[in-house]
Amino acid sequence: MKPFVFLFLFPFTGGILAATLRAHYEPGNLQQILSGPFNEIVLNGQTFDASPAARTGFSLDLREKRLIQMEGKAPVWMTELEKIEAKANGVRFFDITDNASLDGYTRTQGTPTYPTPSAHEQVTSVIKTLTTDGPRELLERFSSYRTRYYRSETGKESQKWLLSRIEQITAEAATPELRALITIDEFAHPWGQNTVIARINGSSTDGRIVILGAHLDSTNLWPFSPAPGADDDGSGTVTILESYRALLVADFKPLRPVEFHWYSAEEGGLLGSQAVATSYAAREVEVYAMSQFDMTAWVREGVQEEIGVITDYVNPMLTEINKNLIDAYLDIPYVETKCGYACSDHASWAKVGYPSIFTIESSFEHANLANIHTSKDRIDISKEFSFDHMLEFSKLAVAFAIELAGWEKS
Ligand SMILES: [Zn+2]
Repeated sequence: MKPFVFLFLFPFTGGILAATLRAHYEPGNLQQILSGPFNEIVLNGQTFDASPAARTGFSLDLREKRLIQMEGKAPVWMTELEKIEAKANGVRFFDITDNASLDGYTRTQGTPTYPTPSAHEQVTSVIKTLTTDGPRELLERFSSYRTRYYRSETGKESQKWLLSRIEQITAEAATPELRALITIDEFAHPWGQNTVIARINGSSTDGRIVILGAHLDSTNLWPFSPAPGADDDGSGTVTILESYRALLVADFKPLRPVEFHWYSAEEGGLLGSQAVATSYAAREVEVYAMSQFDMTAWVREGVQEEIGVITDYVNPMLTEINKNLIDAYLDIPYVETKCGYACSDHASWAKVGYPSIFTIESSFEHANLANIHTSKDRIDISKEFSFDHMLEFSKLAVAFAIELAGWEKS
């Protein structure tokens, strides 16, 4: 984190850059910045349309104060505009405004023990049925929204569309008997775009659940600009949806309940996942294992195709199981890598004491960092965007569900 957050504004007059104002953020001059004759904003070297017209269809108030938790610091209040600038500068944080106090929620769950992979026949029978056709068709549509920003109209529309496709896939793939075990719900958030949760109930009475997660929202550095979010995190969204579809087709009846979570507002500071995790902790739900899929599509040209296993801010024992699953069921090896503080939604589960892990498309340095959070995060930007690579992650999600939840076989 830089000691000060700067915003560079270029008043645009008659097509000519007339002047350059370097505005230091302080509560006192924010009003001046926002009401001034500034039509453009430069964030991390990119220029964006910041005119009021470009901000229609959004319910984001740039002046609103939010409570932000960065690594190793006391929480600080900053405006939405300052949040945008901090994120553009690579700062990672939780927006804890709605979950400021976790007193009484933070869990000491003890150390769960995990089995070594043993359901080889069941897992391989399901992963054989995974396809790239479904994810491709879903992602073409899902990444065609102008943005899936959590405070935008199209963000809300895209979430409702995803919900309808999950319901449709469930209706097509599940037998009536299996359908009776499934619930599909929206976890409502005050900003309008909701988290979606599909749950397959289990027959076990040990009370512990298994969660597979991805985030359904997207953003540009300047949130009012186009954000197709094909890789971040449209890829993870359709990756776990394809695993869900294949498990239903296989008539998967788990021992422990298995939940698929599509979080809203990851890009706003892990807002959706914090709300869900805090709610589960408050209700004393026992989460046995949570696995996050955020960016699963990119294979950097000239770099060996690998699965990135995140090793920081994760549960080490569950990470070992994840590696075992990759060795046992995937066609490509893993590479250990790090992602930093508050990197994706698994961190919200860790914060309230649940065991969670994160798997990503490659080592962090070889990920699709040049395109995410830009208008170029598209399926067709490069042949490095690979549906075959995503399929490996669907295999991992299937293996995780079956091995950790167990399969009640008739
Ligand atoms: Zn993401």
